[in-house]
Amino acid sequence: MKSEKIMSFMSIKRVEKEEFVFFTSKKLLKENGIHIIFTTKLKGVSSHPYKSLNLAFHVGDEEKNVNQNRKLLCSALNLNLHHLTTCEQVHGNNVVVIDEDKIGSGAFSRDDTISKTDALITNIRRVPLAIFCADCVPIIIVDPVKRVVGVVHAGWKGTYLEIAKKTVHKFIGNFCSHPQNLIIFIGPSIGSCCYKVDTVLAQMFKEKFILPLDTHQGESYLNLVEINIGQLLESEIKSENIYRSNKCTSCDPAFFSYRKEGGLTGRQCALAVVV
Ligand SMILES: [Zn+2]
Repeated sequence: MKSEKIMSFMSIKRVEKEEFVFFTSKKLLKENGIHIIFTTKLKGVSSHPYKSLNLAFHVGDEEKNVNQNRKLLCSALNLNLHHLTTCEQVHGNNVVVIDEDKIGSGAFSRDDTISKTDALITNIRRVPLAIFCADCVPIIIVDPVKRVVGVVHAGWKGTYLEIAKKTVHKFIGNFCSHPQNLIIFIGPSIGSCCYKVDTVLAQMFKEKFILPLDTHQGESYLNLVEINIGQLLESEIKSENIYRSNKCTSCDPAFFSYRKEGGLTGRQCALAVVV
């Protein structure tokens, strides 16, 4: 009976609150007590070029604005900001399981965030895990049976290093998760419509992942979402358990886009918490 419930259809829906606008699965929250969030850049207090819901410290925004934006986010979602747990994000493939000692790492400053890490997992209740992106692929992994959540930051480097696959293996190894029970939510990221890459990089991906090259007018494009989905399917995730926002951060002005803004911009976040 339980697996039937897990199989039931989820979706990623837009929600507009007074304080901010985000994407979530209401059904996951209602049925499984797990809250997942993909924020937009709308509302918040930061000014140009971080306008306005910038949630990351490392981009050059004023710390007080980032703190205020995180406060808005946590109070609107009824989360404890002191428990917000983040990582340094170095485009690697290190995955860290959050235990009691690490709760709240990087909540108020980058100084004590979890270093050299791009994915976080926890089964501790009321500990929101967050990663920050502006074009990179944010992936949330949920085990509704074991009640475990994970957040993954997968830019081209993390994708190439197969961080999504590595995170799934950590769910299996550390929490005895069954991959067929895992639910995946893929948030807004730069789409293959806009992610033009040089031929060397395109060739590297083609060789490693045996991909057809996506080209228009002699230029190569990468579809990072599809490559990550490929890794998840190889890890025995069921295709019907993978949900995607289908939003391109470069096309849709509701999101920060590193590429579109020439590198100087804010970050939206992907957040997951066992309520
Ligand atoms: Zn696009």
